[in-house]
Amino acid sequence: MAVLINPGTSPTPVFAYDNLLFFPADCRTCLVAKPARSKHCSLCGRCVQLFDHHCIWLNNDVGYYTYRYFIGFLVAKIWTFTYGAYLCWTALGVSPTMFWTTLRATSTENKITGTLFLLCVLLLPLVALFLGEHLRYIYLGVTTNETAKWDYIHYLMQNKLLYKDGSQFLVVDEMGYTTLTGAPINATRPAPVTSWDQLTNIYDHGFVSNLKQRLFPKPL
Ligand SMILES: [Zn+2]
Ligand SMILES: [Zn+2]
Repeated sequence: MAVLINPGTSPTPVFAYDNLLFFPADCRTCLVAKPARSKHCSLCGRCVQLFDHHCIWLNNDVGYYTYRYFIGFLVAKIWTFTYGAYLCWTALGVSPTMFWTTLRATSTENKITGTLFLLCVLLLPLVALFLGEHLRYIYLGVTTNETAKWDYIHYLMQNKLLYKDGSQFLVVDEMGYTTLTGAPINATRPAPVTSWDQLTNIYDHGFVSNLKQRLFPKPL
Protein backbone atom coordinates (compact mmCIF):
# COMPACT_ATOMS: atom_id res chain seq x y z
CA MET A 1 0.00 0.00 0.00
CA ALA A 2 2.84 2.41 0.86
CA VAL A 3 4.34 1.71 -2.56
CA LEU A 4 1.22 1.54 -4.69
CA ILE A 5 -1.42 4.03 -3.57
CA ASN A 6 -1.75 7.70 -4.45
CA PRO A 7 -0.03 9.70 -1.67
CA GLY A 8 -2.61 12.53 -1.91
CA THR A 9 -2.47 14.53 -5.12
CA SER A 10 -5.99 16.02 -4.99
CA PRO A 11 -5.88 19.86 -4.95
CA THR A 12 -8.81 20.02 -2.45
CA PRO A 13 -7.39 21.94 0.51
CA VAL A 14 -7.42 20.22 3.90
CA PHE A 15 -5.30 22.58 5.95
CA ALA A 16 -5.46 26.35 6.38
CA TYR A 17 -2.54 28.58 5.37
CA ASP A 18 -0.61 29.67 8.45
CA ASN A 19 1.14 32.51 6.55
CA LEU A 20 4.33 31.51 8.31
CA LEU A 21 5.35 28.27 6.58
CA PHE A 22 2.67 28.16 3.88
CA PHE A 23 1.19 30.95 1.77
CA PRO A 24 -1.51 30.88 -0.92
CA ALA A 25 0.41 30.36 -4.16
CA ASP A 26 0.41 28.33 -7.35
CA CYS A 27 2.83 25.48 -7.96
CA ARG A 28 5.37 26.77 -10.50
CA THR A 29 5.41 23.40 -12.27
CA CYS A 30 1.79 22.15 -12.07
CA LEU A 31 0.46 25.74 -12.40
CA VAL A 32 -2.44 25.02 -10.03
CA ALA A 33 -3.10 26.31 -6.50
CA LYS A 34 -0.83 24.64 -3.99
CA PRO A 35 -2.71 23.61 -0.81
CA ALA A 36 -1.14 24.38 2.58
CA ARG A 37 1.28 21.64 3.78
CA SER A 38 1.73 20.33 0.23
CA LYS A 39 4.94 20.19 -1.76
CA HIS A 40 5.82 19.48 -5.36
CA CYS A 41 7.87 16.29 -5.68
CA SER A 42 10.29 16.83 -8.55
CA LEU A 43 11.00 13.08 -8.83
CA CYS A 44 7.32 12.17 -9.26
CA GLY A 45 6.33 15.44 -10.98
CA ARG A 46 3.26 16.16 -8.85
CA CYS A 47 2.08 18.15 -5.84
CA VAL A 48 1.35 16.01 -2.77
CA GLN A 49 -0.72 17.05 0.26
CA LEU A 50 0.89 16.74 3.69
CA PHE A 51 4.13 15.96 1.87
CA ASP A 52 6.63 14.36 4.22
CA HIS A 53 9.37 13.10 1.92
CA HIS A 54 10.00 11.12 -1.25
CA CYS A 55 10.98 7.64 -0.07
CA ILE A 56 13.51 5.97 -2.36
CA TRP A 57 12.89 2.57 -0.74
CA LEU A 58 9.15 2.76 -1.35
CA ASN A 59 9.59 4.62 -4.67
CA ASN A 60 6.61 6.75 -3.62
CA ASP A 61 5.91 9.92 -1.72
CA VAL A 62 5.13 9.69 1.96
CA GLY A 63 2.19 12.06 2.25
CA TYR A 64 -1.47 12.49 3.22
CA TYR A 65 -2.62 8.95 2.32
CA THR A 66 0.67 7.06 2.49
CA TYR A 67 1.96 8.24 5.87
CA ARG A 68 0.05 5.58 7.84
CA TYR A 69 1.32 2.80 5.57
CA PHE A 70 4.83 4.20 5.89
CA ILE A 71 4.51 4.00 9.70
CA GLY A 72 3.08 0.47 9.31
CA PHE A 73 6.04 -0.39 7.07
CA LEU A 74 8.50 0.74 9.78
CA VAL A 75 6.63 -1.17 12.51
CA ALA A 76 6.58 -4.28 10.27
CA LYS A 77 10.33 -3.97 9.70
CA ILE A 78 10.98 -3.67 13.44
CA TRP A 79 8.92 -6.82 13.98
CA THR A 80 10.66 -8.64 11.09
CA PHE A 81 14.14 -7.80 12.36
CA THR A 82 13.26 -8.73 15.95
CA TYR A 83 11.69 -12.04 14.99
CA GLY A 84 14.42 -12.68 12.39
CA ALA A 85 17.13 -12.14 14.98
CA TYR A 86 15.34 -14.47 17.39
CA LEU A 87 14.91 -17.20 14.72
CA CYS A 88 18.54 -16.99 13.57
CA TRP A 89 19.81 -17.05 17.14
CA THR A 90 17.79 -20.15 18.04
CA ALA A 91 18.76 -21.83 14.72
CA LEU A 92 22.43 -21.29 15.51
CA GLY A 93 21.89 -22.81 18.96
CA VAL A 94 24.88 -21.05 20.51
CA SER A 95 25.68 -19.21 23.68
CA PRO A 96 26.88 -15.57 23.35
CA THR A 97 30.52 -16.57 23.96
CA MET A 98 30.41 -19.23 21.22
CA PHE A 99 28.92 -16.92 18.57
CA TRP A 100 32.10 -16.01 16.62
CA THR A 101 33.42 -19.59 16.78
CA THR A 102 30.14 -20.94 15.39
CA LEU A 103 30.03 -18.28 12.69
CA ARG A 104 33.61 -18.88 11.47
CA ALA A 105 34.35 -22.53 12.01
CA THR A 106 31.30 -24.53 11.02
CA SER A 107 28.91 -25.04 8.08
CA THR A 108 27.85 -22.64 5.30
CA GLU A 109 24.33 -22.68 6.77
CA ASN A 110 25.70 -21.40 10.05
CA LYS A 111 27.56 -18.59 8.27
CA ILE A 112 24.41 -17.52 6.40
CA THR A 113 22.28 -17.72 9.56
CA GLY A 114 24.92 -15.79 11.53
CA THR A 115 25.15 -13.09 8.85
CA LEU A 116 21.36 -12.73 8.78
CA PHE A 117 21.38 -12.49 12.56
CA LEU A 118 23.93 -9.66 12.42
CA LEU A 119 21.94 -7.87 9.67
CA CYS A 120 18.77 -8.03 11.80
CA VAL A 121 20.56 -6.85 14.95
CA LEU A 122 22.34 -3.98 13.16
CA LEU A 123 19.32 -2.73 11.18
CA LEU A 124 16.84 -2.97 14.06
CA PRO A 125 18.10 0.10 16.00
CA LEU A 126 18.33 2.17 12.78
CA VAL A 127 14.69 1.53 11.90
CA ALA A 128 13.62 1.95 15.54
CA LEU A 129 15.39 5.34 15.69
CA PHE A 130 13.75 6.36 12.41
CA LEU A 131 10.31 5.41 13.79
CA GLY A 132 11.11 7.29 17.01
CA GLU A 133 12.00 10.37 14.97
CA HIS A 134 8.67 10.19 13.16
CA LEU A 135 6.74 9.75 16.42
CA ARG A 136 8.49 12.92 17.58
CA TYR A 137 7.39 14.72 14.39
CA ILE A 138 3.80 13.57 15.04
CA TYR A 139 4.12 14.85 18.63
CA LEU A 140 5.39 18.22 17.34
CA GLY A 141 2.76 18.37 14.56
CA VAL A 142 5.29 18.69 11.75
CA THR A 143 6.33 16.81 8.63
CA THR A 144 9.92 16.14 7.58
CA ASN A 145 9.40 18.79 4.89
CA GLU A 146 8.23 21.30 7.51
CA THR A 147 11.19 20.74 9.82
CA ALA A 148 13.37 22.50 7.21
CA LYS A 149 10.91 25.41 7.16
CA TRP A 150 10.92 25.63 10.97
CA ASP A 151 14.74 25.56 10.89
CA TYR A 152 14.64 28.62 8.63
CA ILE A 153 12.24 30.39 11.04
CA HIS A 154 14.62 29.49 13.88
CA TYR A 155 17.55 30.93 11.93
CA LEU A 156 15.62 34.19 11.35
CA MET A 157 14.72 34.42 15.05
CA GLN A 158 18.28 33.73 16.21
CA ASN A 159 19.61 36.46 13.92
CA LYS A 160 16.86 38.92 14.91
CA LEU A 161 15.56 39.08 11.33
CA LEU A 162 11.95 38.05 11.99
CA TYR A 163 9.30 40.65 12.81
CA LYS A 164 5.58 40.70 13.28
CA ASP A 165 3.40 43.60 12.18
CA GLY A 166 -0.15 42.96 13.35
CA SER A 167 -0.81 39.43 12.11
CA GLN A 168 1.78 39.59 9.31
CA PHE A 169 5.26 38.15 9.61
CA LEU A 170 8.09 40.16 8.11
CA VAL A 171 11.77 39.68 7.43
CA VAL A 172 14.20 42.57 7.68
CA ASP A 173 17.24 43.02 5.43
CA GLU A 174 19.42 45.97 4.38
CA MET A 175 16.71 47.15 1.94
CA GLY A 176 13.98 47.18 4.61
CA TYR A 177 11.06 44.88 5.40
CA THR A 178 9.77 42.14 3.14
CA THR A 179 7.12 39.47 3.59
CA LEU A 180 8.36 35.90 4.13
CA THR A 181 7.81 35.32 0.40
CA GLY A 182 10.16 38.22 -0.41
CA ALA A 183 7.70 40.99 -1.41
CA PRO A 184 8.75 44.48 -0.17
CA ILE A 185 6.28 45.91 2.36
CA ASN A 186 5.87 49.02 4.47
CA ALA A 187 5.81 48.03 8.12
CA THR A 188 3.77 50.21 10.44
CA ARG A 189 4.55 48.84 13.90
CA PRO A 190 7.00 45.94 13.51
CA ALA A 191 7.85 44.02 16.68
CA PRO A 192 10.76 41.55 16.78
CA VAL A 193 9.97 37.85 17.12
CA THR A 194 12.67 36.28 19.24
CA SER A 195 11.14 33.23 20.95
CA TRP A 196 8.99 30.22 20.07
CA ASP A 197 6.35 31.52 22.53
CA GLN A 198 5.54 34.25 20.02
CA LEU A 199 4.77 31.70 17.30
CA THR A 200 1.98 29.16 16.95
CA ASN A 201 2.09 25.92 14.99
CA ILE A 202 -1.54 25.87 13.84
CA TYR A 203 -1.10 22.29 12.59
CA ASP A 204 -0.29 20.91 16.04
CA HIS A 205 -3.34 19.67 17.97
CA GLY A 206 -1.55 17.50 20.52
CA PHE A 207 0.00 14.06 20.04
CA VAL A 208 -3.21 12.00 20.09
CA SER A 209 -5.09 14.24 17.63
CA ASN A 210 -2.05 14.53 15.37
CA LEU A 211 -1.67 10.73 15.39
CA LYS A 212 -5.37 10.22 14.61
CA GLN A 213 -5.11 12.67 11.73
CA ARG A 214 -2.12 10.77 10.33
CA LEU A 215 -3.57 7.28 10.80
CA PHE A 216 -7.13 8.02 9.66
CA PRO A 217 -6.95 10.67 6.94
CA LYS A 218 -10.35 11.94 5.75
CA PRO A 219 -11.03 11.49 2.02
CA LEU A 220 -9.78 14.46 0.01
ZN1 LIG B 1 8.08 11.65 -5.17
ZN1 LIG C 1 3.31 20.82 -8.35
